[in-house]
Amino acid sequence: MTKNTEYSNLYLSEGIRLLYTNSLPGILITFIAATIMVFTFIDNQNLHAKITWWLAMTLLLGLRVIDSQMWLRGQPEHKKEKIWLLRFSSGCLLTAVLWSVYAVVFYPQFSIEELSTTNVILAAMAGGATSILSGSLLLSSLYNIIILMPISLLLIMQPEHYKHNLGILGFCFTAIMMVSSVRSAKYIKEGILLRYRNKTLVANMEETIRIRTQEVYEISNKDSLTGLYNRSAFLSAVEAVEQDFRNHKITNFSIFFIDLDGFKNINDTLGHNIGDKVLMTLSARLKRCNDAEVLMCRWGGDEFILLVKDKTYESTSLLAEQITHCFSHPIKLDEHAVTLNATIGISVCPEHDTSVTRLIQLADIAMYSQKGKYPERFAFYNLDLERNLHRNITLNEALKGALERNEFRLVYQPIVNAAGQVVSFEALLRWRYQGEEISPGEFIPLMEQSGRIVQVGSWVLEEACKVLAKIHKRNADTCMCVNISMIQFYDKGFVNNVNRVIEHYAIPGHLLHLEVTESIFQSEQMMINQKVSLLQQRGVKFSVDDFGTGYSSLSVIQNMNIDYIKIDRSFIQHIEQKGLSIVQAMMNISKSLNFKVIAEGVETEKQRLLLAQCNVPYMQGYYFSRPLERQKALDYLNNVQQDSVEEESCSETE
Ligand code: C2E
Ligand code: CA
Ligand code: CA
Repeated sequence: MTKNTEYSNLYLSEGIRLLYTNSLPGILITFIAATIMVFTFIDNQNLHAKITWWLAMTLLLGLRVIDSQMWLRGQPEHKKEKIWLLRFSSGCLLTAVLWSVYAVVFYPQFSIEELSTTNVILAAMAGGATSILSGSLLLSSLYNIIILMPISLLLIMQPEHYKHNLGILGFCFTAIMMVSSVRSAKYIKEGILLRYRNKTLVANMEETIRIRTQEVYEISNKDSLTGLYNRSAFLSAVEAVEQDFRNHKITNFSIFFIDLDGFKNINDTLGHNIGDKVLMTLSARLKRCNDAEVLMCRWGGDEFILLVKDKTYESTSLLAEQITHCFSHPIKLDEHAVTLNATIGISVCPEHDTSVTRLIQLADIAMYSQKGKYPERFAFYNLDLERNLHRNITLNEALKGALERNEFRLVYQPIVNAAGQVVSFEALLRWRYQGEEISPGEFIPLMEQSGRIVQVGSWVLEEACKVLAKIHKRNADTCMCVNISMIQFYDKGFVNNVNRVIEHYAIPGHLLHLEVTESIFQSEQMMINQKVSLLQQRGVKFSVDDFGTGYSSLSVIQNMNIDYIKIDRSFIQHIEQKGLSIVQAMMNISKSLNFKVIAEGVETEKQRLLLAQCNVPYMQGYYFSRPLERQKALDYLNNVQQDSVEEESCSETE
């Protein structure tokens, strides 16, 4: 609706309201005036005519009273309709016509008194109309004209001088009344306009206040970057859901803890602007794959939390799958396209807990435990996860002072050649904590995560080389294999440290073998290459550990000039099935790429035999010996060496 039509509608409806609300006093005055006029100047001559006129006027006024009552009792929305103006105007103008009829028809019988009284009454009626009918300018003007003009015209045409003058006076009066009608109609119009302006002003103010309130709400409740709930708003919104659950309005709800994988990298390498864009894109995707019922929150940084109501286990899993799928599409930015995956941890109320704060904690634990475990990108919380996490936290704390408390020691597992002679030992780290032997499979990843492996690894190297120096005095060719974690390898001081240890214990470099896993070759190849060749120049040998379990390509191994490949235990375990072909293939490649093969985890005579048939030159495993404490390893070396010397001399004597 345009402003003009809105305004004219308002003018119409206000006009109608004014006319009807003022109508009853006007009708009453008209009735009194009509009655006084008729019955004051009645005589036999005009008896019937005047009574008839009075009855007509009374009937008309009666109808107008009924009409007013109908309007008063009508429905508010119908009261504004134009038909009311027509009805009112008709009644009003008919009244004016009746007055004019009275003046014109009965004029010939008027006494001088009746004429003046009639004139006074008509003038009063016209005067009253200017204000009472000011709701409609047209109506009040027509009313004046109809009531005053006929009698004024009639009087002007009379020969008597005073009547002529009265007629002129009537004209003038009509003109004055018209002017005054225009004025009061204008006044009323302005009043209505003012009311309209006030009304729109109030409405505008209400709208402005509504917008401002919304803005304040958004600022304090929404995350400005993503438009999702912020942390505090989310926590107050979920209170209502907790309440609904307590009141049995919903049967369950779950919390999704979503964390982006590798977001920090994007922020660090491509900058915070790109990071922000990535977050915005991903939150838009999050909104798209959830309905409005799901409460979505940016918990902080690259973490999001969802609260999902009333879903089955299956539909919850499906939603988690959808979200990870949605997130995994490449994000197109100005010059870059980045792909980010997300890990989701899920906790369920009432299965895991009923408090949202606790459920968030549990979902976080589930997320954390699932991090990096490909291909499954989401996990439901369970008690084991929490126990693991607690144990990890405890062990991590304990690892802080383990070196100082002398809780670490090394054990040594022999590696033998085809003749069964010990050619080297692999130094393996052991940690005894509070009387319990903790598996390296458990504590080494923890030390890698905390970076403590650099310091402990350096201790391992030193300790292993100390033992190697001791062995070297009696067995000049026996080597020592030391496991090196990727984190150590990346450390700036690594090469210097190895050189320092070699020099300190006066060990020939070629007796030290460093075992690295394939994952080391995945990134920063230049740096790795440089470090490997620097140490190789000192004679140090390199072995690729757990070969076949990672992703390294043979070409990388060739470039690196690797000395040994240790075929992972899992292939040896299954050597009687498909493992054999892999071992054979490795033996073939080893010749052309110039590395030597070591088979790990040999446990049975059968395995040893098959490996020997494949001409695998070196083997290691429980079949030959378990990892041995230092003294036992030294004794073992002497005994086996002794045995083989005896065997050799026996065969010589044979
Ligand atoms: P790894 O380097 O593959 O070490 C060989 C693992 O296989 C050792 O487990 C050893 O006890 C086990 N093993 C040897 N022969 C057999 C066998 O015939 N059968 C079976 N089932 N297992 C056998 P351990 O000592 O528990 O070490 C586990 C892993 O911990 C090592 O795997 C290595 O990756 C890591 N690790 C151990 N010590 C160190 C260390 O000083 N530094 C670093 N960075 N990692 C270490
Ligand atoms: Ca190893
Ligand atoms: Ca291994």
